[in-house]
Amino acid sequence: MILKLALQLFLGTVLSALVSTLAYRFKLLTSDGASAAFLLGAIIFGTGGIGFALPLLFFFFSSSFLSRYKSGQKIKYKDVFEKTGARDKNQVLANGVLAGALSFIYFIFPSPSIYSAYLACLATVNADTWGTEIGILSKAQPISLRGFKRVSPGSSGGISLIGTASSLFGSFFLVLVGFLPGISPVPFRTELFLIIVIAGFSGSFIDSLLGAFLQAQYLCPICNKSTERKTHCNFDTNRVSGISWLNNDWVNFLSSICGIILFFLLQKICGN
Ligand SMILES: [Zn+2]
Repeated sequence: MILKLALQLFLGTVLSALVSTLAYRFKLLTSDGASAAFLLGAIIFGTGGIGFALPLLFFFFSSSFLSRYKSGQKIKYKDVFEKTGARDKNQVLANGVLAGALSFIYFIFPSPSIYSAYLACLATVNADTWGTEIGILSKAQPISLRGFKRVSPGSSGGISLIGTASSLFGSFFLVLVGFLPGISPVPFRTELFLIIVIAGFSGSFIDSLLGAFLQAQYLCPICNKSTERKTHCNFDTNRVSGISWLNNDWVNFLSSICGIILFFLLQKICGN
């Protein structure tokens, strides 16, 4: 038992070091992002084992691949987003700190609900990333959840049909990976599977709502473009809406909390 755990912790740390080094090499993570990912990865792989590692790796690599996918077309939205390119420490922590906490809790109290909540958390961030990275390529102009006006692709809180469908697939496939036979610590049940997929998808919808209504939005005084950035065209931008500290990282963090809460609520409602 102790020997098995020591081996898992050792292998988890090695795997995490390998993945974060590769991610840094391929410019998927900044140097502080790679350090944060190493730490979180070591905790999750080490305490949770392969059942926890695989969904996390799926999220990380599918998101990184989609960020790179048709990046030439996405470059024109570069000045709308707060951050683009390699993910930094705050982005990694916003997406992963709750997953790390749940993995550790499962290690002490191994309950199927904790594992399911872990999947709901990752499903939320995966659905959000897939929705954003594929939705931004939508040929139809997205509609803002705030006032239902048409907005430019990439705007926080804007949704499109293709982006919404991609979010649903993002949640679905992440949870599917979480239930791979022989790897998952929890046996597959259709009802449980659907509850987690819905929690993840709804969590990512809350992400869009928070983006539309509460996230800080700025206006550039030089080029008059709206942006999530505090500086633009080398000048300080002016905040036009939202809460000043509520940036994209906080929105991701809060929506993954919502994904977890939604899972527990749905589980309660369905009497699981
Ligand atoms: Zn500007």
